Amino acid sequence: MRSKQSLVWPKRLHWDKYFRPQSIPEALQILGEFQGKAKLLAGGTDLILQIRNGEIAPKALVDITRIPGLDQITLEGGVIRIGPLVTHTQLSQSPLIREKATALSEGASQLGSPQIRNLGTVAGNIVSGQPGADTTIPLLSLDAKVKVVSKQGERTVPLTEFFLSTGKTVVDSMREMVTEIYFSPLAEDESSVSLRLAKRKALALPILTVSVVVSANMKQRKFNRVKIGLGPVALIPFRPREAEQMFASAPLTDKVIKGAARKAAQEANPRTSLLRGSETYRREVVANLVERGIRQGIERLEVKHG
Ligand SMILES: Cc1cc2nc3c(=O)[nH]c(=O)nc-3n(C[C@H](O)[C@H](O)[C@H](O)COP(=O)(O)OP(=O)(O)OC[C@H]3O[C@@H](n4cnc5c(N)ncnc54)[C@H](O)[C@@H]3O)c2cc1C
Repeated sequence: MRSKQSLVWPKRLHWDKYFRPQSIPEALQILGEFQGKAKLLAGGTDLILQIRNGEIAPKALVDITRIPGLDQITLEGGVIRIGPLVTHTQLSQSPLIREKATALSEGASQLGSPQIRNLGTVAGNIVSGQPGADTTIPLLSLDAKVKVVSKQGERTVPLTEFFLSTGKTVVDSMREMVTEIYFSPLAEDESSVSLRLAKRKALALPILTVSVVVSANMKQRKFNRVKIGLGPVALIPFRPREAEQMFASAPLTDKVIKGAARKAAQEANPRTSLLRGSETYRREVVANLVERGIRQGIERLEVKHG
C-alpha cells in the first residue's frame, strides 16, 4: 500500500538554466556544452513530472518549442512527414492524417485530456518510451521511421528498433534530437484502426491499445497482409509477428481472423497488474481487440471500395 508520504511531491521544481534556442544546431550546441546534463523540453507533460518526482535532475532545460518549422505535417513524394513538435491535437484534427493514417488520428484523439493533447508532442510521446503510448502504437503499425540528429550527424531508426526497455529508447535527449517521424500513407487497398480499452473515457491509462493496418483484395476476399501494434503487453511497444504472418495471402474468413487474434494473445507477454488486471484477462482482451480491429479494418475497406 502507498504511504501518505509517497503522495506528496518529494522535490520542488528546479533547474539552473533555461534556454530557448531558435534552431536545431543551436539546441545541439547547448546540449553539447552541458555534456549530458541538459535535457530537451517540448510540451513538458512527461518531463516536468519526472523532474518534480525527483526521477531526473537536469542542470538545464533546452526548450525547443521556439524552433520554427518543427510543427508541420506534410505529404510529399508519397511520404507523410510529421515534425517533432506536432501535438496530439494537431494529429487528431489533421484531415490528411484522418484519411491517410486513420489509426494515428484515432490514437492521438484518445490520449489524455484536451489540455494534454494541446501540449504533448508526438516526439515526446515516442521518446518517453512507454509501452502503451497512444501515438506510438499506431506509428508502429504504420512502420514509421524516426530521424535523429546529434552533433555527430543524422541517422534514421525504424520505430520497430527504437525501444530498448520501458522508458528507454535509442535516443538520448541529453545529446540528440528527433527531427522527423515519417511513413507511407495508406494505400488504396489498406485501411487502419486504433482501439483502446481503459477504465473510463478521460485521463485513464490504457489497459490495452491496439492498432491495425489491414491490406486486402476485397474482390477476391483475400488478405494481402496485416500489421498489428500492441501495448502495453510487454516491456516495449509490441508487434506480434507470427500473428501478422497468418494473414499473408490468407482468405478473408472468420477462422483466419480468430486464429490470428488468438496467436497475437499468445505472443503478447502481459503480466498480472493491479491497474490492468490479471494476465489471463489481459490476453483475452488482446484476442478480442485484435479481432475487433481487423473486422473494423475490413468494414472500412468495404466502405472505401463501395
Ligand atoms: C495527466 C496526463 C495524462 C497523460 N495521458 C496519456 C495518455 O493517455 N496516453 C499517452 O500516450 N500519454 C499520456 N501522457 C503522457 C504525455 O502527455 C505524452 O507522452 C506526451 O506526448 C509527451 O510529449 P511532451 O511534448 O509533453 O514531452 P516532454 O515532456 O517535453 O518530453 C518527454 C521526453 O521526450 C524528450 N523529448 C521531447 N521532444 C524531443 C525531441 N524532439 N527529440 C528528442 N527528445 C525529445 C524529452 O527530453 C523527455 O525526455 C499523459 C501525461 C499526463 C501528465
